[in-house]
Amino acid sequence: MFSVGKILVTRSLPGSALEHLRERGYRVEAHEGLFLSREDLLKKVEGAIGLIPTVKDRVDAEVMDRAPGLKVIACYSVGVDHVDLEAAKARGIRVTQTPGVLTEATADLTLALLLAVARRVAEGVDYARKGLWQAWHPELLLGMDLEGATLGIVGMGRIGQAVAKRAEAFGMRVVYTGRTPKPLPYPYLSLEALLATSDIVSLHTPLTLETHRLINRERLFAMKPGSILINTARGGLVDTEALVEALRGHLFGAGLDVTDPEPLPRGHPLYALPNAVITPHIGSAGRRTRERMAEMAVENLLAVLEGREPPNPVV
Ligand code: NAP
Repeated sequence: MFSVGKILVTRSLPGSALEHLRERGYRVEAHEGLFLSREDLLKKVEGAIGLIPTVKDRVDAEVMDRAPGLKVIACYSVGVDHVDLEAAKARGIRVTQTPGVLTEATADLTLALLLAVARRVAEGVDYARKGLWQAWHPELLLGMDLEGATLGIVGMGRIGQAVAKRAEAFGMRVVYTGRTPKPLPYPYLSLEALLATSDIVSLHTPLTLETHRLINRERLFAMKPGSILINTARGGLVDTEALVEALRGHLFGAGLDVTDPEPLPRGHPLYALPNAVITPHIGSAGRRTRERMAEMAVENLLAVLEGREPPNPVV
């Protein structure tokens, strides 16, 4: 059958968005399976005019040069740290993302991790499952009370603000830091002041050259003793080795949906720490959210291929 061009989708996507592409005459190659090796990505991208990558696919100049006809990289994510934006710009390739539709789902997961760490939910589940639950005791698995606790948000964008809204409902006091203060009803602090005064610190900045290891060893140990770190943004924001040390005494706990490296290899010291609650990068993993992300990626891709300005451009 005649095709108007090949689109590589690096994982199968939920919902019917890809059908829409096929109906328009595109030859959609959606990779089935959990992994796509670098070699396979390089091979499969050949001949593509459009690419829908996930956060786990490194899309650099080498990938782009395998597909000289490539016009658009429509990321299935918010956060484009996996794409070499300069290389795309130099080749006239548009890059888009899926902002907004995953804000609430990611904020929900942030709160899930926050609650799990503060109230030691994972430890409690483990305790019960192992058959250790034999009595009620006033001092069993004591955690952090959230009412009145200070939540420090680093990066008060879409997700940061959605987290703040939820935290207020739990009676937390919200403070934040970022590049510039915003017209919001929360105190704006320097990063240093926020780390020193927050009971919980939650990260919501993109991963860039500027924010790589933003939470380094010094800053981890500058956090309030007995406080909690939550990261649902990107693993590269935190020095993992230093975090392991900080979790062995200085911090109360950490909730991580993203890690560095990612995935965390089996046997990594973080897995052995009862006060680290780790989820496998499922921040946006609500069914409706993931379907909406697919629709948005396809809308962006089609816009570029049909000569229109994409709704969510990055480059
Ligand atoms: P957003 O609306 O662009 O918000 C990002 C915020 O970070 C903005 O307020 C921005 O400040 C701030 N920021 C940027 N650079 C900074 C720096 N150097 N220092 C301090 N603050 C800085 O993005 P979003 O939709 O909330 O998403 C945030 C991040 O979450 C994404 O980039 C992605 O990495 C991550 N994420 C993870 C998942 C997951 O599955 N776990 C899902 C979705 C997103 P300005 O307001 O001044 O620009």
